[in-house]
Amino acid sequence: MWENLSLTEVTELAKDPYPSIRKWKKETGKTIVGSTIADVPEEVIYAFGFLPVALLGTNKPLKKAPSLLPDNACSLARSNLELALSYEGDLFDGFVLPQVCDTTQHLSDIWRINFPNTYVESFLAPRQVDRESARYWVKEETERLIASLSARFNKKITDEDLKRSIVLHNENKALIKEIYEVKRKYPVSITNKEFFSLIKLSMQVDKAEFNQTLKKIRDSLEKKEGEGYTEIILTGITCDPPEIFDLFDEIKLNVVADALVTGSRYLQGVVPEGNPLDALAERHFKRGFYSPIHDNVYKGFKELKALFDQYKPKAIVYIHIEFCESEEYDMPDLKSMIKKEGIPMHILSTEFQTLSLSHVRTRLQAFFESLKGGTL
Ligand code: SF4
Repeated sequence: MWENLSLTEVTELAKDPYPSIRKWKKETGKTIVGSTIADVPEEVIYAFGFLPVALLGTNKPLKKAPSLLPDNACSLARSNLELALSYEGDLFDGFVLPQVCDTTQHLSDIWRINFPNTYVESFLAPRQVDRESARYWVKEETERLIASLSARFNKKITDEDLKRSIVLHNENKALIKEIYEVKRKYPVSITNKEFFSLIKLSMQVDKAEFNQTLKKIRDSLEKKEGEGYTEIILTGITCDPPEIFDLFDEIKLNVVADALVTGSRYLQGVVPEGNPLDALAERHFKRGFYSPIHDNVYKGFKELKALFDQYKPKAIVYIHIEFCESEEYDMPDLKSMIKKEGIPMHILSTEFQTLSLSHVRTRLQAFFESLKGGTL
């Protein structure tokens, strides 16, 4: 199903992967477990023989979620709940929901109440990662998830199952990193939209199949120099609606590095070698910054500054999800620290339900025009 896709097919599927996941489920009879971002160990779910699917919101209209979540809850949380309640809920045999910020705190309880017959589990990875107890916590939480899946689906896994799953998931990330290397140097070889669709779809389909597609795409990339591209760093949590990438492609911006949760933060999730449970816990501490609420407030800035120094792009583009309290808490300080460094940064505020991007286009074009004129 996902082993021999062209870049055009990948981009189409990334926009709406659910019909293909539905078909795959019908053909394989396998269990599908959804999880919201971030940090749920997909390798664990896959080791059970289940398909882990990252829930990445929907651009479809909100009908039921507004009555369950306040208006000032972020559109990612609202649209994920809507996705499950109105559109794709019946596809899933279970959900594992992490807590990453105040909005997602106990959000799993709302899901539990609304899906009384479906498996709903929480995954509470610590956000304060500089304490020694955090390692112990992640490992215990991973073991608790394994025990919970085992009890609900009456299945056991071994260390060997986990190791095989880890190898497959690591391979997936390594392949995408290779493609990223080519994209940085040769922006003509793959568009921003195609590249980030590879990551998005990787988070949602069977890697045993999709890695075959990635190998073919990697081998077929045309290494041709492009002209007139402006290199940028992209940051934020997700970049939605995905048509934003069309705007980047249209005005020839080349994303050479990013700090997106649906981007490099996912690729940083390579699990080191060793005892699989220890290694899965260790991975949590190697990932980039997500939410400042319970973490070092300077970490996000330091990571962006390091990326800027390494790749020397022309600017940073920050995709801000409206009502994301984590970003809103973090942004004023980040903006002022970035400004002090003399780094141009443009902030785009969007929602998953944003239908028209004309205002985004105008502001983006104006920003990069003024950048050429050296007025920023
Ligand atoms: S971190 Fe932001 S986008 Fe993610 S769930 Fe929390 S409020 Fe929503």
